[in-house]
Amino acid sequence: MPESPYPMLSVEEALQVILQAVSPLPPVRMPLPALLGLVLAEDVICQEDIPAFRASAMDGYAVIAGDGPALSVLGEQTAGAAAMPALRPGTAVRIMTGAPLPEGADAVAPVEIAEEHGGQVRLLRPVRRGENVRPVGQDMARGDLAVPVGTVLGPAEIGLMATLGQPEVLVYRRPRLAVMATGDELVSPENPLRPGQIRDSNSFALLAAAQAAGADTVNLSRLPDDEAKLRAALLDGLNRADALVTSGGVSMGRKDLIKPLLAELGEILFGRVAVRPGKPFTFALVQGKPVFGLPGFPVSSLVSFELFVRPALRRMAGHPKLRRPEVKARLSHAIHHPDDRTEFQRAHAVQKDGVFWAETTGLQASSRLKSLVGANALLRLPAGRPDFAAGDEVTAILINQPEVD
Ligand code: AMP
Ligand code: MG
Repeated sequence: MPESPYPMLSVEEALQVILQAVSPLPPVRMPLPALLGLVLAEDVICQEDIPAFRASAMDGYAVIAGDGPALSVLGEQTAGAAAMPALRPGTAVRIMTGAPLPEGADAVAPVEIAEEHGGQVRLLRPVRRGENVRPVGQDMARGDLAVPVGTVLGPAEIGLMATLGQPEVLVYRRPRLAVMATGDELVSPENPLRPGQIRDSNSFALLAAAQAAGADTVNLSRLPDDEAKLRAALLDGLNRADALVTSGGVSMGRKDLIKPLLAELGEILFGRVAVRPGKPFTFALVQGKPVFGLPGFPVSSLVSFELFVRPALRRMAGHPKLRRPEVKARLSHAIHHPDDRTEFQRAHAVQKDGVFWAETTGLQASSRLKSLVGANALLRLPAGRPDFAAGDEVTAILINQPEVD
């Protein structure tokens, strides 16, 4: 067998090479409705006091604390109206939640303790100064740090920026990833199979993985193992995207054309990783953009995506956290592990009485996509440590949990 010209990197070395080669995309101003899941690229500072006026926290009567028990009702103050002129001792104003307090008033007696008849209101108990009044700047004061740079924007942050009168903020935009499947044998899912053909699953799985990682996608669909067509599609994809993934064609076969093409068009940073599945995973820079050459086997391509492409996309999107949580898990059964490379077995991990137990998803062949269906963990089985027994402790990467660091 011919020797691969590429040195073999460890998983960690490969990830470091990738993370050093990619950086956050230039920040852009985006409007509030487009912000969910994006990372803030600036500190958002409160420019005005919230609330900007003394506001009633309840429906009731604006009064002067200690006044009463009987007060004449001067009028009504609803939310959205400007504050009414001054309240004098012996008077009250009917007030709604969110309405500004009339000048002179310093408390709100809730409706529950008030009885109004014929223009007079009777308070069933005295009210304290400031009761049910939201003072100016109570929620946030001018100059406060509202949302710090690096925050992943969720519903609360987006709502707060609306409150602060910031209809647009500076964020890292979603990276756009072009996805291409290669192989003469591939047909689309709606097609019947002729002898020797298989259905292309990688296009669809990888597009979904890209979306799950927060990226926008360009679907380059399927390409035959044809050098000219692959070259044209790679260049087209790179024109339309910030990064590109290919599947298939990175091994040592006569029709494996991706590595030579990447070497011709750009620079291969590595072409082999000591990992199972995914040994021929290749990383290159072409026109300064990252290109990930994923192996064709469906499990290899998705596991490589999880280990290497997802962190890169997240870095491009400005995310400060790139690593999934890892826990120690006990094996519920013995497993065979060829220890020449680090292996990632697909598993189901459940917590019982504070202890994680992991069960693998059956046959771990890299062609068997079913081994990833329902899996919530990858068990990292290190090189140099063969076969595990039931009850042995392993590291489980929780692949359905958000990144923690
Ligand atoms: P390759 O990396 O091109 O040698 O492909 C390895 C294996 O993965 C072969 O059995 C291919 O038929 C299969 N394969 C390649 N691409 C895909 C794809 N897009 N969807 C499903 N299987 C694929
Ligand atoms: Mg192939």
